[in-house]
Amino acid sequence: MARPARRVGPPQRSRPTAADRPAYDAAVSRPAHLDVLHALGESLLSTRRRLSAPELASAAALGPEAVPSLAALAHEVRLAWCGPAVEVEGILSAKTGGCPEDCHFCSQSSRFDSPVLATPFLDRDEVLAAARETAALGASEFCLVLAVRGPDERTLQRILALVPVIRDETGLDVAVSAGILGDGQAERLAAGGVHRYNHNLETARSHFGRIVTTHTWEEREATCRAVKAAGMQLCCGVLLGTGETDEQRLELIGELADLGPTEVPMNFLDPRPGTPLAGRSPLDGLEAIRWIALFRLGLPDVILRYAGGRELTLGELQALGLTAGINALIVGNYLTTLGRAPADDLAMLEALRMPIGALGAAI
Ligand code: SF4
Repeated sequence: MARPARRVGPPQRSRPTAADRPAYDAAVSRPAHLDVLHALGESLLSTRRRLSAPELASAAALGPEAVPSLAALAHEVRLAWCGPAVEVEGILSAKTGGCPEDCHFCSQSSRFDSPVLATPFLDRDEVLAAARETAALGASEFCLVLAVRGPDERTLQRILALVPVIRDETGLDVAVSAGILGDGQAERLAAGGVHRYNHNLETARSHFGRIVTTHTWEEREATCRAVKAAGMQLCCGVLLGTGETDEQRLELIGELADLGPTEVPMNFLDPRPGTPLAGRSPLDGLEAIRWIALFRLGLPDVILRYAGGRELTLGELQALGLTAGINALIVGNYLTTLGRAPADDLAMLEALRMPIGALGAAI
């Protein structure tokens, strides 16, 4: 009798039935970070309550695998608290370099051997030409930036002469960044039509002395408070990547929440040649997205603006920041570094179906 042919290949199994399948193990299938984020979302979205410091720290403690979920929650928070519009702004370095201060990240300090050339205050026509270019991009805000410790009387008068001309010729809201303000200067700028004043904290109080020694964190804070007291909107930015710890970034978010700015520009260190921070590595891109999301969770109602260093730090991840809490852009070049082409940023917003609009009045 012939022997039955031997079967080759893997042994046949009968189809598994429902009874054969392992029971759903929620602890394995559902990452624990979703529970943390769900609880934070309940506060921020359902009850519209700001997070406490320990709650924000619980989000910061999540690992890198949680970044996409963290970013998704931050985007929902931004939409719920600020709406869908993205604010576009142009900035102009109206007086570059030669600054007596020693901010260790800044190539405009006269104390460092950096390749930035000091230039005097631009004239009226140069400023107006830049403002018109900004308006043509659909921007709503134009910021005049001066590399000074603070404005002397002559500088203040030049600013006050330019503000109404820019506003009337272009329809743009005019912001100014001119350093530490002295007695009565905030009131004069407010009376002169300055809509928003920029003065960055840059970093946490506990880290500030390691990156600036010629003025104090408290002097910066005092100017920020004077800006608000005078009735201008406060734009108060940060710089990540100067050697601060996660705890100091959380400290900084708390300090900003206490100041209550309208706008927070997020800068990422672009190590400039000749400065004391020239040898530092830029922040990792995913880490930058994580902190954009955490700043949004901690500051749900601010205009959170992409500012300097995003091209270097984020590269191809730049669109991701706009779905992780960012709702404003500086377009064109920065003060001493080149930004990418404005058309690329406008195309990115169009691809994301994000409308351009003014935000300050709505938030
Ligand atoms: S950051 Fe501002 S104050 Fe500091 S050195 Fe640069 S221009 Fe001067």
